[in-house]
Amino acid sequence: YNAFLGAKHAALIWSRQRHHIHGKCGCRLRLQGKVALITGGASGIGEATAKLFTRYGAKVIIADFQDDRGQAVCKELGSTTISYVHCDVTKESDVKNAVDFAVSKHGKLDIMFNNAGITPPLLYTSIFDSEKSHFEKVFDVNVYGAFLGAKHAARVMVPAKSGSIIFTASVAAVIGLEAPPAYTCSKHAVVGLSNHMCMELGKDGIRVNCISPFLVQTPMIDGALGSAVDKNKAAEWLATAANLKGVTLKAHHIAEAAAFLGSDESKYVSGLNLVVDGGYSKVNPLITNVIKGSYT
Ligand code: NAD
Repeated sequence: YNAFLGAKHAALIWSRQRHHIHGKCGCRLRLQGKVALITGGASGIGEATAKLFTRYGAKVIIADFQDDRGQAVCKELGSTTISYVHCDVTKESDVKNAVDFAVSKHGKLDIMFNNAGITPPLLYTSIFDSEKSHFEKVFDVNVYGAFLGAKHAARVMVPAKSGSIIFTASVAAVIGLEAPPAYTCSKHAVVGLSNHMCMELGKDGIRVNCISPFLVQTPMIDGALGSAVDKNKAAEWLATAANLKGVTLKAHHIAEAAAFLGSDESKYVSGLNLVVDGGYSKVNPLITNVIKGSYT
């Protein structure tokens, strides 16, 4: 009852102040002294994370196969603490090289963000339209790539008896979502891999966690929707579907979650799937919307 009263009266005040959830990001050096390798760091969530980690004082290495984009991000920041390494996460020699590059440049690896990922076009959300080739392609990047990143990060973190390994999973790994089956299955596998590594590496002082975002408008989503769908229309759909109103999920919100899991603020957090979805996976407002006549 005490919790209910507190929540009720806070909600009454905040519902009149629409902007209470727009906090300004602090600029504390939460990652000072940390070395972070970010796969898929040339675009979207990875790019936002590379930028935020640099702002928080980390030394960052972007590992991607979009060389021009990756180098452009480093140039844009103009900082000596961010660098780029070519890495196709489906090639073990590239992943090994990226990890070795981080260690030879900065002497250690504290944070490995296994974030690179792809999806088949959203045209293929039905099981009947899905092909084995979709599974092979998506699993190669999302699961095998994540496994290679985690394996090679662990290779250098275990002797150091410290490190934080983070995976980008998805809200599609938490609830049924109209995502292509190959994508959904791959993200479930990522959560499984994270749980396994949490168990295996705990004795070595290494923390392993996932982040599961709701839909964020990045080049991956725009590409998956195809050129027929206008970007503004897609943004409108996402805003309508979102549970939490008054804020639009952006890549930098996911980056903040990664900063938390990479920093010492989460020193005893391991085995977590940090769902950043504004509560989407906890609710199903369909029946309410049908009754109100607002479901189309
Ligand atoms: P994005 O396309 O903007 O970024 C993905 C990055 O991964 C790109 O820079 C791309 O070059 C890189 N990449 C792809 N294949 C690679 C490979 N073989 N080797 C190296 N790099 C490779 O997409 P995003 O939305 O930022 O996606 C980042 C992660 O977030 C993915 O794992 C995605 O599944 C996950 N995710 C995205 C959303 C969303 O709505 N955008 C939601 C949940 C989870």
